Order: sequence, then structure tokens, then C-alpha cells
Amino acid sequence: MRKPRRTEDLWEYRIIEQTRRSEKSFRSLHIIEHDLKIALIFPSSYETAIANLGFHKVFELLNGIEGVQCERFFYDKRFSKYYSLDTQRPLDEFHIWAFSVSFELDFQNIIQLMQKKGIPLFNHLRNDHHPFILIGGAVTYFNPNALWQYADLIFHGDADETLNIFIEKMLEGFRQKKNREGILEQIKSFDNLSIPLLHHTAKSISKSMEMTKKPAVSLITTKRSVFPNKVLLEVGRGCLRSCAFCVAGHTRSPARFVQVDVIESIFDEMKEKGFNDCGLISATFTDHPFKNKILDLMEERDIHFTVSSLRLDSLSEKLLEGLLRSGQKEITIAPEGGSQKIRELMNKQISEEDIERSLQLIAKKGIRKLKMYFIYGLEEENESDFEAIYKIVQRANHYGMTDIKISLNPLIPKPGTPFSSRQIQDLKTLRTKKQFIEKMLGKKVSVKFESIRNSILQYQIANASKDFQFPAD
Ligand code: SF4
Repeated sequence: MRKPRRTEDLWEYRIIEQTRRSEKSFRSLHIIEHDLKIALIFPSSYETAIANLGFHKVFELLNGIEGVQCERFFYDKRFSKYYSLDTQRPLDEFHIWAFSVSFELDFQNIIQLMQKKGIPLFNHLRNDHHPFILIGGAVTYFNPNALWQYADLIFHGDADETLNIFIEKMLEGFRQKKNREGILEQIKSFDNLSIPLLHHTAKSISKSMEMTKKPAVSLITTKRSVFPNKVLLEVGRGCLRSCAFCVAGHTRSPARFVQVDVIESIFDEMKEKGFNDCGLISATFTDHPFKNKILDLMEERDIHFTVSSLRLDSLSEKLLEGLLRSGQKEITIAPEGGSQKIRELMNKQISEEDIERSLQLIAKKGIRKLKMYFIYGLEEENESDFEAIYKIVQRANHYGMTDIKISLNPLIPKPGTPFSSRQIQDLKTLRTKKQFIEKMLGKKVSVKFESIRNSILQYQIANASKDFQFPAD
């Protein structure tokens, strides 16, 4: 690709060049020059983007469509030009800007990027010279309304079987040289597509069954990923559980698990291509019906692994041994509630005995580092529920765990969950609770609180109605 002439652009261009150079290809990227150019944009950092399997999957799907050229972008507030990671083509040359959004607060980055690129923010102000703004990703399973006035298209759900059909239809419109409205009219029959300008709301959320045979897999690895140098492999989608605060457990059902023979063939492909580390991605690896077989397959091939999440009630010696063999020194568990009362309210289905058993097991394996996640901010909780968090810490200490980290997040009630009729607690209440917990835990453990202000904003975005507007800068 041609190099920029302006010095300030050259700096940005070099960053992209270096980032691309840090990538090692696991599967070929297959980019062919075509008329319809789609920018696949992750509205957050490169490190997060590249650790997101949906980003890899959609990139692969779009480049598999005859006539479509898709290239990857990520968000960096320092950038102005925005060059693609794949050919370093500037973003302005792309016809569709497809945002893969996993996190509500990243909506703000989409707005900022559009502002920076001089794209009219509101969909009714854009014309044929502007790109189509397409929103997809995890947020579209529950409520992407915050972007209703900004997006041209919202694709709801799994991309696997349906994204290509609707993009092919758009391609047809482009080839027939239809105008913006004509193209939108042509695709409005798709059930899982919302088109705000036409007041068309999706009737369903796409759920893939094909993913059990064709899971998402990393196309590249890089040391800069949140999962450094690991081939990420989707082993499940959706969750068997239904914790009351969790969108994954409610809006992404049914739980689907990737077939073991498919997983085995990917392990073989890894070995063949000289890759030895993988990250198993799912809502909870420990719920996979063939988890032990998967652990055996990795051990036989001496593949090292990590898991994106595990349930402490189904923690096993075999899994811990596998993680230790892979060099993992810290275990992360999520009791979420300190007391049984709070865990029951959250439908966490984890008992005191489960916590005791898992701490004993972790200690037995000689693991000294423990990270635990908790939620606070329920109207029913009181000081004794917070003290119960401290008791879990004391028990972990008792079993010899010396390096303990606690992460605390305010409850953010979300649409589609049993907590949807609740509201996030106000700033003052959350601050008082935070101060109590901080004082109680003192310096005994390392405690990290999610920002209360950001959590309130996340709540507002997650529960937005269609007339929501982001505050002007
Ligand atoms: S919190 Fe974890 S176990 Fe519970 S529903 Fe969500 S993904 Fe499943």
C-alpha cells in the first residue's frame, strides 16, 4: 500500500506496520482485492480486539464472500487517519464500516471515531457518499438501542450462517448502483436485522448451530494479545446456567458445545503448524460435556492451555493439573456473592461447601495465587454479606494462599435478565458500600473496584431507549 506523505500520518502508519509485523499467521487471511470494501472495526484497543474470537470469525466469513474485501481496524484515540492492519488502506476508502461491539462503553469510541472522520453522527444526515455504519457483536443480543440514531444497520446475534446472506444482498445493491435508501429497502426482509432509518426492528436474534462443527478459531497469534501467543479456540457458546445478573446466561442460550472430533482436528492443525499454546473460550469450560476428553487430547499432544472462565463448583484435579502443566500459577474463581443469601439471590448455585472444596483443591495443588470476583450493590445486602467476603479471604489464607486479589463490580442490571426490572444503585450508596468493603479488607488483600461512574454509564447505555443520545463533546 502507498505510504502517506504527511509526517503525522507516517507515525500512525508505522504503528500499524509494526503491529501487523507482530502477528503470526495460524490460518491464511485470504484477502483479495474486490469492489465492495468492508472495514471490520473493533472499537477498542488492539490487544482486546485480537483476543476477541468474534472479530476473527467475522473477518473470515466476510472475506469468504465472492466480491467482498474485508480488512481489520482497531480504535486508538491518538489516530486520525486509521489504516487497516491488513493492507494499510485508509478507513475512508471503505464502503461499509462494520463495528464488532462487545462492551457497551465502547459505543463512545464509535461516536468519537465517526466524529474524527467527519461522518455525520446521525443516520438521517448521511448520504450516498458516506459509509454504511453496521453494528454487530455481543451487545446486539440484548439492547443496542443506544446506537439507534447513529447506526444504519444492526445485525443481531451470531454471524456464522446468516451474515453472508445479507452482505451478498447488499453487494447486489451496490452492483446495481442503487442509492442508500434502495440498498436498505432491499435488505429489510432479514429477520435479525434492524434498520433504524426505515423504522424496522429485528424480529429475531440469529443463533448458530453450525458453530458446533465450525467453531471460531484465531487466524493469527501475537504476543500483544490479552492471551499472548495463544491460538484461541471456541469450545462452547451460550451457558447452561442462568445467573440472574448475566446476559450470557439468558440472551445467548441455548448452550452449544463444539464437537470433540472438531476440537481434536484443530489441536492436530496446531501441532502441524508449530503452535503449542491455546486458549479455550466459552462461557464456562467446566460445563463442556467432554471436558476430560479435551484435557486428555491436549496432554497427549503436549499442548499448553488456559481457559477463559471456569465454575468453581466443577473445578477438578485433572483441570488444575492441566493448568499447572501449562505453566499457570494463578487461579481465578467467581463466587460473586460473599454470603449464601447473596449467591442465592443471584442464582449463582454455589454453596459454602463448593467454595471450601475448591479452595482445598487449589491449595492441595500448591497454587498460592488466587483471584476472586464479587458483585456488590444489591438492595438486599448488608454489612454481614460484605463480611462474608472477608471470611472467604480468611479461608483462602488458612489454606496457604498468600497472594490474593479481589475484584469487585457493582451490579449492573441488564435487559433480558431476571434483574432487568432493577436499577443500578446510586453513586452515593455505591460509594458508601465501597468504602465499607475497602475498610474491612484493609491492606490484607489487593482489592480492585470497577469505576462506579463507568458502571452507571454502562447501565444507562445497556438500558437505553431508541431516543438515547450521547452527550456532545
Ligand atoms: S455468570 Fe458464568 S455461569 Fe453464570 S450464567 Fe453467566 S456465563 Fe454462565
